[in-house]
Amino acid sequence: MLEGTFLGYSNASNAYLVADADGKLSLEEMQALQELRRKKQETRQTESFLHLHVGIDASDLPADLESHHVAVKSWDDIRSEQNVVIVSIPSLLDPTLAPKGKHNIHAYLAGNESYDVWEGLKRGDQKYKDLKVERSQRLWEVLEQIIPDVRKRVETSSVGTPLTIDRFCRRDRGNYGPAIKGKQTFFPGPHHLQIEGLVHCGDSTNPGIGLPSAAASGMAAAHAIAPIWKQWQSLEDLARFRKEGRNPRYTTFEPGEVIKHIKPNLMQAFA
Ligand SMILES: Cc1cc2nc3c(=O)[nH]c(=O)nc-3n(C[C@H](O)[C@H](O)[C@H](O)COP(=O)(O)OP(=O)(O)OC[C@H]3O[C@@H](n4cnc5c(N)ncnc54)[C@H](O)[C@@H]3O)c2cc1C
Repeated sequence: MLEGTFLGYSNASNAYLVADADGKLSLEEMQALQELRRKKQETRQTESFLHLHVGIDASDLPADLESHHVAVKSWDDIRSEQNVVIVSIPSLLDPTLAPKGKHNIHAYLAGNESYDVWEGLKRGDQKYKDLKVERSQRLWEVLEQIIPDVRKRVETSSVGTPLTIDRFCRRDRGNYGPAIKGKQTFFPGPHHLQIEGLVHCGDSTNPGIGLPSAAASGMAAAHAIAPIWKQWQSLEDLARFRKEGRNPRYTTFEPGEVIKHIKPNLMQAFA
């Protein structure tokens, strides 16, 4: 656990930053941090999600069943509650993702499920279970438009709520990210506090929310600290350490693979 000076926090997760206990900040830097804190507190969060995961019997489904669907109730206010439902059936594209003769379906309310409705409920309580049934009706209705007898086909189903996202992803109030409007303002950059040695990344920084954007912000932060050649060296070191069993923490990815794919492209771009 780190101990030190509070530096600010991510709008989306509960993560906060601390300076090394010995780190010294100037008055201007402290003021910049207070300003950051104020701005973050003022930034509205997007709403949360409601997920429905279903496993169904796939026998005799139409051959032209599409793998992806979007259902919009009203175009007047796209963000209105329970408005946009996204459905995907990944096992249509890759049958190995479900047992033979079955399909898996993911339907979700994309950033338009309110956390307020769920706030204070306890997982496992009857009230929580009942609300899952009630709030997931919209998702079931959309599924029925795609596969009319879907309920009869169900073999397993589960509902993920804003509380699930808050708990497992540690996203504050299960939010999708900061509600920063593209045409009005920008997400802050990696160096926006102009404090030497402090670099920000993640989906509360430029270019914004989403896995590709968060990864891009990580790249921007890395470039702010070290040139690409040094980054490669670090990745290659990590790969080597891992192979030699010197770095057991990096068990989930192989940095060497990353280099193998991006290095030739970048060499070409720089040539
Ligand atoms: C339900 C949902 C669906 C999404 N779907 C998509 C999608 O389909 N496509 C897409 O591109 N993007 C999607 N996104 C957005 C995307 O997941 C995020 O923008 C991206 O993961 C952000 O990455 P990050 O590293 O900035 O933050 P996170 O992935 O939120 O990582 C922050 C990490 O910090 C940890 N943390 C929090 N507090 C502390 C603490 N105090 N101490 C230590 N660690 C802490 C958390 O556990 C977490 O691991 C979705 C987001 C959600 C919530």
